[in-house]
Amino acid sequence: MKVLVPVKRVIDYNVKVRVKPDQTGVDLANVKMSMNPFDEISVEEAVRLKEAGVATEIVVVSIGPQQAQETIRTALAMGADRGILIKTEATVEPLAVAKLLAKVVGEESPDLVILGKQAIDDDSNQTGQMLAALLDWPQGTFAYKLEKDGGALKVVREVDGGLQTVKLTLPAIVTVDLRLNEPRYASLPNIMKAKKKEIAEKSPEAYGVDISPRLTVVKVTEPATRSAGVKVEDVAALVAKLKTAGAV
Ligand code: AMP
Repeated sequence: MKVLVPVKRVIDYNVKVRVKPDQTGVDLANVKMSMNPFDEISVEEAVRLKEAGVATEIVVVSIGPQQAQETIRTALAMGADRGILIKTEATVEPLAVAKLLAKVVGEESPDLVILGKQAIDDDSNQTGQMLAALLDWPQGTFAYKLEKDGGALKVVREVDGGLQTVKLTLPAIVTVDLRLNEPRYASLPNIMKAKKKEIAEKSPEAYGVDISPRLTVVKVTEPATRSAGVKVEDVAALVAKLKTAGAV
């Protein structure tokens, strides 16, 4: 089984995001960037499938600037086999990402594409679903557990109020949720080995995909600052406070 894993380079989850003074977006200057945390989970799952003898090859793909190559290298150090960088400096919206991934799928013919459920920069939660629609493949989103079941794939999904199990015929799309696994840290020898793994460089134009934005960002603002809380002595004081504040 060949697995394709799209990985996105995003602002590191530990960084406090700053909005640009002109409210056109967030400040990326001198900001630490890392692999989208959900994509680390997809890479880990693909590597586990390979270690279990289920997956034969893992190809990672990233759409982004030259530096997205570092994100691909991280995935290669975790155990992926080779990478594809679709280089662009432009902002690429989920639909354009999905269209590019559909082209890569056409070229690579994977049996499974594992994506993150969402990228933590724009929180779209759209790419996997759009890719499944474009390819007309079955999808198992928000995966909590993944198991090969004969020629099919059993996916336990996190849904409101519990878990739902679906069986997908391959080829299929899976998007991963937080509890699927705990991604490994790459060991130093594997980081060294990853330097020798192949990364092919492509462009959106070479795939014939129009990546021009369909959305206009009106403005980006900081979340409202929370007002300070108040400490109360006991439950009676809390109830009294809630009553006077009109909350009860
Ligand atoms: P989103 O729909 O933007 O929340 O992203 C969901 C998932 O799609 C991510 O976790 C990645 O697996 C994939 N993805 C989104 N954007 C990119 C990108 N520029 N390059 C590679 N994969 C991406």
